[in-house]
Amino acid sequence: MSATWDLPDFDDHESVHLFRDPESGLSAIIAIHSTHLGPAAGGVRFWHYQDSTLAITDALRLSRGMSFKNAMAGLPMGGGKAVILADKASTKTPEMLRAFGRSIESLGGRYVTAEDVGMTDDDMVVIGSETEHVSGLPVETGEAGGDPGPSTAMGVFLGVKAAIKRALGKDSVADVHVAIQGIGSVGGGLARLLAGEGARLTLADVNEERARAFAADLGGEAVSPDAILAVEADIVSPCALGAVLTERSIAELRCAAVAGGANNQLETREDGRRLFDRGILYAPDYVINAGGIINVGLEYLGQGDRAEVETRIAKIPERLEQVWQESAETGDPASEVADRIARRLIGRR
Ligand code: NAD
Repeated sequence: MSATWDLPDFDDHESVHLFRDPESGLSAIIAIHSTHLGPAAGGVRFWHYQDSTLAITDALRLSRGMSFKNAMAGLPMGGGKAVILADKASTKTPEMLRAFGRSIESLGGRYVTAEDVGMTDDDMVVIGSETEHVSGLPVETGEAGGDPGPSTAMGVFLGVKAAIKRALGKDSVADVHVAIQGIGSVGGGLARLLAGEGARLTLADVNEERARAFAADLGGEAVSPDAILAVEADIVSPCALGAVLTERSIAELRCAAVAGGANNQLETREDGRRLFDRGILYAPDYVINAGGIINVGLEYLGQGDRAEVETRIAKIPERLEQVWQESAETGDPASEVADRIARRLIGRR
């Protein structure tokens, strides 16, 4: 077996920590990609992996993405990510979460957690009984923090509007056709915001009943999850899993722009070039989906309230514009331009 630094996704991460607590059954990885701009912030994912190399790879990729996302969001925070390796039955206990909290505490504030897939704000409260380096805790109305989903959805909504403006030259979403993959916390919130301003929606979820219910409620159409990326639409918005933009799916796209909330949408770096070569505008995922980390980042830093969160989320379209403009001027795909800007911000080449 190769060492962590031999894995293809190792990107000079500052440190990668393995934690095990036999009493609670905790097995966790915390990857710290960069603390150049501040404490490494990024959520913890609770997930069943086929093997530990896949779990380490996930932590490496996601933590690098957080460095880029936090830098592009203008937050004084570095990038990190944790994964807790779930058993097949996804058994999650308070003892396990407390042991995870002690693991975070042992890093002395270099890593700050929040919720990601498989975790809730109640879980953050349990983790917070062992460490103060936690965000995404339940909050009162008007404060920064709490569930990042609605903030992410708001940022993606503003980013979709920016993509509509750039790709279609329209100032309004009315009658613009948006196909959304994944109607969960982010995709569902996005669908509601778009419907509120008169967009035409096509929705898909592996939970097909859920997609149908949203479509009935918001006046859109539901299609099968296999069909959503190839729907003829103005905008395709991936809001489910990563690695959905592949050589094959990109060839089948029939849209002017891809702008969605899912993390790590491109399967490989070349897929950014494939989108560009097809003339499809791409909103780099970590730029458009930063609303949630802006919300919980400001909560952790104690730097402002809900109004400040909204002011900062409102800057997401400007950052996308900057990336698209540089892409148009240089002929480099938007994904590569964003990586270049982000790397510069975190002091890397
Ligand atoms: P979620 O679990 O609430 O929703 C995901 C939805 O996608 C679920 O309804 C699920 O059934 C559906 N889904 C899964 N696989 C699918 C498939 N193949 N086709 C269609 N639908 C499918 O998760 P979420 O919080 O909405 O996050 C969605 C994506 O956005 C993830 O990639 C996540 O990493 C990313 N993201 C979320 C946040 C946040 O604040 N929640 C922030 C940044 C990025």
